[in-house]
Amino acid sequence: MSARFHADVALASGTTLGLPEQAARHVQVLRLQPGERILLFNGRGDGRPGSEGEFEATVTRMGRSEVDVTIGAYKATAREAARALHLVVAMPANDRMDWLVEKATELGAASIRPVMSERSVLRLKADRADKKVAHWRGIAVAACEQCGRNRVPLVHEVATLADWLKKGAAASATADDPGAGTCLLLSLRDGSRPLGQAVAGTAPGGALTFLNGPEGGLSPAEEAAAIACGFSPVTLGPRVLRAETAPLAVLAALLCS
Ligand code: SAH
Repeated sequence: MSARFHADVALASGTTLGLPEQAARHVQVLRLQPGERILLFNGRGDGRPGSEGEFEATVTRMGRSEVDVTIGAYKATAREAARALHLVVAMPANDRMDWLVEKATELGAASIRPVMSERSVLRLKADRADKKVAHWRGIAVAACEQCGRNRVPLVHEVATLADWLKKGAAASATADDPGAGTCLLLSLRDGSRPLGQAVAGTAPGGALTFLNGPEGGLSPAEEAAAIACGFSPVTLGPRVLRAETAPLAVLAALLCS
C-alpha cells in the first residue's frame, strides 16, 4: 500500500494541491520524489463527497518544505467498525493515555472523551489540557494513517467527569451527551453485569458509550452519579485491569470479532 497521509482540507479528484504542513513534512521525511504515488484522506467522515474514503495522489513537486500533489481517483473505502463505540475515560497518567488513544483508534473507537475524576492522578489546567488534546488528536491522526481508517475519531476537550455528567443530566434523553446510545459503566462493583450480557440486550448495531475509571477507580459517589445519569455497571471479569486496558479490552471484544 502507498504511504497514507491525512490532509484536513477538502479533496477533489483532478485538482492540484499544496499539502498541509504536517503532511508535507511527513512526505519530506520519507524523501518521496515527483511521480511517486501516495494516498490522502481528510478524515472528516461527515458524509460529504470525499469525506469517507481515500484519494490516490501523485507527488508533482518537492519544494524546500512544500509538497504539491495532483489528486487522482477516489476510493470510498469504509474501514469503520460496524457500531459506534464511544469512550469516556478518566485519563491515565504518563504516556498511558497516549497509548490508549493510539490503540483505541486502531481498534475502531468512534470518539474518545478525556475526563478528570476525583482520584485522577493527571490533573490538567486549561492551557496544558489544550496542548494535551492537540497532542492526542495528532496521535489519533497518525494511528489512522497507519491502520487505514479514513475517519479520524473525535478526541474531545478535557472536562471534569462531574461537569460532563451534569451537562448530560440537563440534556434531553436523545442528546449526544452525556453518552450516545446505551451507556455502560466499566465497574468493579458487585452486581455488575458481564459485558456480553449487557451488550446482548442493546439494539443491534446501536451506539454504545463506555465510562472508565482512572488508576484509583471512580469514587462511589461518582459511580452513583453516573448510574443516576443512565449508565449501567458492567464487568470484564474478576481481574482488575489497568485503567488503559479496560476500554481496549471492550473495543477488542466488541469490534474485532
Ligand atoms: N484500584 C482501583 C482499580 C481501578 S482499575 C479499584 O480498586 O477500584 C481502573 C478502571 O478500569 C476501573 O475504574 C474500571 O473502570 C476499569 N476496570 C478495571 N478492571 C475492570 C473489570 N474487571 N471490569 C470492569 N471494569 C474494570
